Amino acid sequence: MSTDTSIEPTYCYHCRTHHPRNEMRLMVTKTGKRWRCVRSIEATQQGREAREAYGRLVTEINRAESRSRAQRLNNLLQEK
Ligand SMILES: [Zn+2]
Repeated sequence: MSTDTSIEPTYCYHCRTHHPRNEMRLMVTKTGKRWRCVRSIEATQQGREAREAYGRLVTEINRAESRSRAQRLNNLLQEK
């Protein structure tokens, strides 16, 4: 049992992206248990300004993630 799941990328239902599991909390919602990152929870508690600042950060993360996904796809296509 040496598998370390604490840093495993886990889907965050709030940001719609992935974070290391050790930065997340398991939330119980109407539709079941879902992972949500601590940063988004704290931003929500801090009020509107922090929430908007965090929203902008998440947009950046999503953009970077789709960019690296496109990059990987490009690399795969070029290997052929
Ligand atoms: Zn998140």
